[in-house]
Amino acid sequence: MTGTAPAPFTADDYRARMDRAARQAAGAGLAGLLVAPGPDLVWLTGYTPTAVTERLTLLVLAAGREPVLVVPTLEAPDAEHAPGAPAITLRDWTDGKDPYAVTAALLDADGRFGVSDNAWAMHLLGLQRALPGTSYASLTEALPMLRAVKDAAELDLLAAAGAAADAAFEEIRKVPFAGRRETDVAADLAALLRRFGHSQVDFTIVASGPNGANPHHEIGDRVIERGDMVVLDFGGLKDGYGSDTSRTVHVGEPTDEERRVHDLVREAQEAGFSAVRPGAACQDVDRAARAVIADAGYGEYFIHRTGHGIGVTTHEPPYMIEGEEQPLVPGMCFSVEPGVYLPGRFGVRIEDIVTVTGDGGRRLNNTAREMVTVD
Ligand code: ZN
Ligand code: ZN
Ligand code: ZN
Repeated sequence: MTGTAPAPFTADDYRARMDRAARQAAGAGLAGLLVAPGPDLVWLTGYTPTAVTERLTLLVLAAGREPVLVVPTLEAPDAEHAPGAPAITLRDWTDGKDPYAVTAALLDADGRFGVSDNAWAMHLLGLQRALPGTSYASLTEALPMLRAVKDAAELDLLAAAGAAADAAFEEIRKVPFAGRRETDVAADLAALLRRFGHSQVDFTIVASGPNGANPHHEIGDRVIERGDMVVLDFGGLKDGYGSDTSRTVHVGEPTDEERRVHDLVREAQEAGFSAVRPGAACQDVDRAARAVIADAGYGEYFIHRTGHGIGVTTHEPPYMIEGEEQPLVPGMCFSVEPGVYLPGRFGVRIEDIVTVTGDGGRRLNNTAREMVTVD
């Protein structure tokens, strides 16, 4: 893998993941899975091409068959060294050959295949041209829980990523906020995430004052002032696994109302966390957090779902949202991140990554959830 420390997974681990994926695909009525470079390929094989180009790289999985990685000849030496390579047959193709014909020879001509969501349209169109009888489904829609339950080694990596994000928060609360731009604090946050071991920073949201009321606001040139609430939401990848945490700080002493709204979100976050246990539905976590905010009269200001899964990406299934009846299973990891957004004024969000244990939940973020004041 490029740019990250090697994950502690063996070819046998990757073989087991590919077997499970192929079995689940068959169970979902699919002839197989087609996996392009991206998070699914990393999780299944440990392989990341140095650059994703127009040349086709595609893992073909089907129950009862050996996994095959179709790969450009010039990238085959790299692919041979992927951690999962001993469990995979490589089928290389040279420039000038038709990679879709090479792939088509591996596929049922009238099969329905799950395709990783980030596969390029040009490749899917090429396959459809080569095999007009085939049809395709989104891998994430067909097998949403494929990567959802983490094993012990994955949990250790997620916990380490969470601890690194927590360490970044402990440092950022010491830097000056008042008089600096959001972009300056965001740059500090990114540097801290890297200092504490992240190889990739996915987001560093610094949303001050009225900007905090817009959950989609990332950063801008606004100069942070005394009296501002500031939503900090940051994360990325450390050793191939994700972090994502939010804390809302106040520059100087907060007003009673700011304190009350912050306490409310903290109580909602606690309620969401307390709802985490095996067998509960994803939507139960959302309902528990939302009920606290609604009961206090702020229901219309909590304008997003309560959480999302995390693993080799920072946003993936399962989603903690009304209507998601998927039961929680030990080993699942996701955010619990309620918020209240008061238009034109301020916002508050508090977010921890939580993993499901045998009898409840365990937080992977553990910095103070009480209001922190900064300078
Ligand atoms: Zn204030
Ligand atoms: Zn977040
Ligand atoms: Zn999140």
